Amino acid sequence: MSEVIQSGARSGSRVSPSDPLGLPVSAARGVGRERVQLLNRLRIETIGDLLFHGPRRYEDRRQLCRIKELVEGQAVTVRGSVVAAGVRTFRGGGKSVFEVVLDDGTARLHCRWWNQPYMEKFFAVGDQLFAYGKATSLRPRAMDHPETEKITDEGDEQVHLNRIVPVYPATEGLTQRALRLMLWRAIEDYADLVGEPALRLVPTEPDLEHPQRIPWLGRPQAIRDLHFPPAPSAAEQARRRLALDEFVALQLTIQQRRLNLERKWRARPCGGDNRLMKPFLTSLPFKLTGAQTRVLREIRAELGNTVPMRRLLQGDVGSGKSLVAACAALMALESGYNVVLMAPTEILAEQLWTNFRRWFDPLGVAIDLRTGSRKAEGELPLTSSSAPNPRLPERVVIGTHALVQDSFQLDRIGLVIIDEQHKFGVTQREALLRKGRDTLEAPHLLVMTATPIPRTLGLTLYGDLDVSVLDELPGGRGQIRTYVRAPEALPKVWAFVQEELSKGRQAYVVYSRVSEAEQEEIKAVTKEFGRVESALAPHAVGLLHGQLHPEEKERVMAAFRNGSIKALVTTSVIEVGVDVPNATVMVVENAEQFGLAQLHQLRGRIGRGGHHSHCILLARQKTEEAVARMKVMAGTNNGFEIAEADLALRGAGELVGRDQSGMPDFRFGHLARDRDLVETARELAWNHLRGAVNPIEG
Ligand code: ADP
Ligand code: MG
Repeated sequence: MSEVIQSGARSGSRVSPSDPLGLPVSAARGVGRERVQLLNRLRIETIGDLLFHGPRRYEDRRQLCRIKELVEGQAVTVRGSVVAAGVRTFRGGGKSVFEVVLDDGTARLHCRWWNQPYMEKFFAVGDQLFAYGKATSLRPRAMDHPETEKITDEGDEQVHLNRIVPVYPATEGLTQRALRLMLWRAIEDYADLVGEPALRLVPTEPDLEHPQRIPWLGRPQAIRDLHFPPAPSAAEQARRRLALDEFVALQLTIQQRRLNLERKWRARPCGGDNRLMKPFLTSLPFKLTGAQTRVLREIRAELGNTVPMRRLLQGDVGSGKSLVAACAALMALESGYNVVLMAPTEILAEQLWTNFRRWFDPLGVAIDLRTGSRKAEGELPLTSSSAPNPRLPERVVIGTHALVQDSFQLDRIGLVIIDEQHKFGVTQREALLRKGRDTLEAPHLLVMTATPIPRTLGLTLYGDLDVSVLDELPGGRGQIRTYVRAPEALPKVWAFVQEELSKGRQAYVVYSRVSEAEQEEIKAVTKEFGRVESALAPHAVGLLHGQLHPEEKERVMAAFRNGSIKALVTTSVIEVGVDVPNATVMVVENAEQFGLAQLHQLRGRIGRGGHHSHCILLARQKTEEAVARMKVMAGTNNGFEIAEADLALRGAGELVGRDQSGMPDFRFGHLARDRDLVETARELAWNHLRGAVNPIEG
């Protein structure tokens, strides 16, 4: 995928040799053999790569800060001449500080580098310097470890001075000055040769009706403004222009894949005839929510079709996705096809199996369970709930990623359901789908996730899926309140938990790790178990974590479910899907160790019954980000809001786990900021591939 992304942005590296942008970077002015090696380290191999090496930030050297006017903690650029420089060593500790004193005529600034005595060789009295950093004190005025740049030749004023200058991702041995001059010259020589991407979907003229919609400047101008913007806004506009190319390239691949699929395979029609659905819905102790009904209608329309369904079902924890999956499964069974359901953990697979059996046994539907451990122990590879039913030979197979392995085979698969999609990569999803294919026919696909995905990310990761949203929780649920407390509050917390347990409620106590590690301050579940037990005595406390024997896990979960265990001391293994409505209290220790998405998932384990629920996050809020996360958790229960905050705090790669997800590595695109561009790119690609008239190219 990244290959294609690059073709959008880095057309230089893929063009024919006759294209100057494809020339090796050694062809650029001022790039000798030594520099080629340094540039290669920055993944710059061609002239094109050089032009698309975007700045990390900019320095506005039109408006330098006067040293006298420095404000503590604010990042600024100053300019001055070196009036003193030298290393000071402190007695005893072996610490040293190298100091340069800058004078700009208004005041003096001490630039300090701790324990880097070798810095001495880079500066001399009389040097002219730019220094960029935050003042760490004002008496005396000082900056620690500023970025500096020496002004060696006033002659190249137009490149380095009195303008907004780019600051690049750099590498040792290559100064900002050198890199900046290389770019300046490369732009003079080559920027006009930067063409549009092979598929020119992005217009180069403004859209007069929607001037904001598309950054319309041509690519040569975008390259110029990216490196040497006349104003800060021009740099951003240029970045957006190049980001749009990246998004368009990605949307083209994603949607081409989807289109190929639709053209190649015929789905098995799975609309069903209601003969199982009717008795099933009648047997439920509740009515479907409006959202469930709406989504099932969408699903039925597609299942009945011969175009393969590719649908993502998003719904916050507890919104009733499993039930929607069960109904979709019934439609396929009624149509005479088998159904496969894959879940990310054994606990979840077994719980789904239990639920489905409770729902489907009365209907005479056979349900098999297939997980890794059941095979590994030499037990029957398939665990069936009931003997094959001659009147209903179709079955449901529920399992973990063990389903992807070769040894699992099942024919006539009408529908593949994947729960908690974000735990699986696209590869696993496709591998499972492949099982269901024969020469002509392919299964429908329903993937479900309780991790609300910000829309931009959804379009990027799952752009080949249509999205349904369960945006309504079943009624009759209690509220969840969330409290953030310092670890010192623990005794009070236990007293509160005691009280709730005495009222007949149940609790989770969650730790971030299974066993003790080097970091003493992070508590481990195995070590704390005894303490929790005595803190909550006489209530029965159980222990559950990923390293337990599967049978032990099952036993503990069963005991918690039937209420003989009152409190479950556990790890994030319960993050996904576990459903015990009577559990209304959750205590998370070292909550700062968890990400927002994980905390939201964890908290989703409570608030599933009629009673009010309480989530207590015990956190050491040492970092700004930890504080921000706790604030978000205390402020909202809305999964989409949490996801947006997570995207803004951590960035997209972190959010989904880059290696697993096939998350592309954008050079210019920022999913948290560029929502509108992602939408535009999707539309442009769609119009192009589906043959609709491109509204822009007319
Ligand atoms: P999710 O998988 O979206 O987290 P589940 O499907 O596990 O949610 O449903 C959570 C709980 O809500 C389950 O106990 C389920 O039986 C119950 N439930 C599902 N749909 C409804 C509904 N329409 N009304 C009441 N309870 C429901
Ligand atoms: Mg679920």
